[in-house]
Amino acid sequence: MPARNILVINCGSSSIKFALVNEEHEPFALSGMAERLGDADAQVHWQQDGHKHSLPLPYADHSVALAQLLPLVEAAADGQLLGIGHRVVHGGEHFTAACALDHSTIAAIRATAPLAPLHNPANLLGIEAAMSLFPSLPHVAVFDTAFHQTLPEHAYRYALPEPLYREHGVRRYGFHGTSHRFVSQRGAEMSGLALNASSWLVAHLGNGCSTCAIVDGQSRDTSMGLTPLEGVVMGTRSGDVDPNMHSHLARTLGWSLQQIETLLNKESGLLGLSALSNDMRTLEQAREQGHVGATLAIEVFCYRLAKSLAAMTCALPRLDGLIFTGGIGENSALIRSKTVSHLQLFNLRLDETANASTVRGSAGPINAHGHPRVLVIPTNEERQIALDTLALLEA
Ligand code: AMP
Repeated sequence: MPARNILVINCGSSSIKFALVNEEHEPFALSGMAERLGDADAQVHWQQDGHKHSLPLPYADHSVALAQLLPLVEAAADGQLLGIGHRVVHGGEHFTAACALDHSTIAAIRATAPLAPLHNPANLLGIEAAMSLFPSLPHVAVFDTAFHQTLPEHAYRYALPEPLYREHGVRRYGFHGTSHRFVSQRGAEMSGLALNASSWLVAHLGNGCSTCAIVDGQSRDTSMGLTPLEGVVMGTRSGDVDPNMHSHLARTLGWSLQQIETLLNKESGLLGLSALSNDMRTLEQAREQGHVGATLAIEVFCYRLAKSLAAMTCALPRLDGLIFTGGIGENSALIRSKTVSHLQLFNLRLDETANASTVRGSAGPINAHGHPRVLVIPTNEERQIALDTLALLEA
């Protein structure tokens, strides 16, 4: 039987990322992105067989863009497109695993929208457009939050009055679950350990960043909370701040809630600290040239990340390894080195030659001999979503 294919779709409010994932072959048969949807300069670009293509789609919406992709996807899948996996950001407490999409699950995702007002409605746009274009295929939702539904109550509750949790769902949910799950499985495979008897710290460091403690294949704690703002320093998000900062800014500067939200989500993090960029490559180059803001941003990023990883060890019975992933985690020897240097109490130390050479998609251990395992593992959320979709179809 030819290997099976799943189309993975990740919709934002004006974009669609897509990948055709084959269960046997690592590289995607087809992958790309439609962006600026709704605008005059909307376009779709994709990669296939090592070639890049693009097509202007003025004023196209999600549905028009997906309709353009349909023949490409079907040709690339060669008659073996078995289903569509949709990334959904927030599943609340309702979704503890991937689920088949139908009227009732769509309604439950819609009901979760107040917890993710920017993301879930955009994800639903893509789901509804794809379901009407591919009505005969099974559609599956895979949630960023679902993996963290195994957090114990002492890890997911805020120290707030109970009705806020019971009646309004105010609790810690965590995000990046698909990535944390994928790399912890890979970490166990690479180390010859059984996933269900292993214990990991993971640092997912992309534009958004989070840490996670994973025991026996289950998330036990994670740094993001009710929203993806909580936790470590990110590209433009502040991570943890004193919650009284909100009232302080409102009182002393007269700022509105909207202004404070924009500040913390879009103008802070690496960008705010450096006053230069949210992009780690730019900051590393600027630091080399003595840029003070970039240097400070990198120092704060690594120290706060190490603090979060140290806190996550409270959830581990022992440490089988620390895994770095995401664009920064997979590529920045500097960030890995600086972060690990703050974790000497845990006896962590890097082999700096291995650290420097494990970049651009390579995977492997970077710890110094005789010290706890530190792994670099490229994440692959699309593959994990496709595998979850296939598993659900088989079940
Ligand atoms: P992601 O969201 O996973 O694509 O990660 C994006 C982040 O990875 C950005 O901050 C990039 O600057 C960073 N990144 C990508 N490549 C490198 C690199 N070679 N060195 C440092 N940071 C990198």
